[in-house]
Amino acid sequence: MARKPFIAGNWKMNMTADSGKELIAQLKPLVKEAKCNVALCVPAILIPAMVKAAKGSKIKIGAQNVHWAASGAYTGEISCEQLKEYGVKYAIIGHSERRQYFGETDEGVNKRTLAALANDITPIVCVGETLEERENGETEKVLTKQLTDGLNGVEDITKVVIAYEPVWAIGTGKTATDEQAQETIAFIRKKLAKLFDTKSAKKVIIQYGGSMNAKNCKGLMAQPDIDGGLIGGASLKIDFATIVNFDK
Ligand code: PEP
Repeated sequence: MARKPFIAGNWKMNMTADSGKELIAQLKPLVKEAKCNVALCVPAILIPAMVKAAKGSKIKIGAQNVHWAASGAYTGEISCEQLKEYGVKYAIIGHSERRQYFGETDEGVNKRTLAALANDITPIVCVGETLEERENGETEKVLTKQLTDGLNGVEDITKVVIAYEPVWAIGTGKTATDEQAQETIAFIRKKLAKLFDTKSAKKVIIQYGGSMNAKNCKGLMAQPDIDGGLIGGASLKIDFATIVNFDK
């Protein structure tokens, strides 16, 4: 069965209730005919308002992180139950900014991923190498560790979305070439086949992320192993609709 493309936006710490509602209202008619799955992962405080704004459209609202515990003394964190109350279907986990600025580890990514799966929230697990790691020829080693440790104990890998985001391409305007992205994502799929099984690995949605935009999306999406995009900057603009309609 062919994999259904999945385009997700990551608003990061941007937008307000007003500007978010306005953008979603503009996007709604433009993504109506999209053949792919579409999500916007918005700041937690905007989730209720954006769920309301996106109601009845193709756009599903996601979170940018989720905690593993059901409740408790974890100041600043949000549980699966709290997200589910608003019908949140996706959560980004292990974004490189979380790893870089907030000390997220593969072990934490693993706990968050398992909790999301147990609560029927699709985790979008981010992996990717830094520029230094790529230049040192360590890309495969880094990805292997992130995948092995981050996905430890996952029973059904087809329920996980992987976002391959080379850190050097995020927010920099430097995109991986179509070939670089394809080659690395094919490596990830091969690794998933080893960690899980070939049949399941063939079904996993693997996104590319890193300065994907309205201009370069077609070339990236034409690659055989690239099933979608995790979009930062371009998801804050109407351009997001062009990416969602990459096949038009
Ligand atoms: C991201 O935040 O996941 C991302 C890929 O950002 P940008 O598209 O801005 O590089």
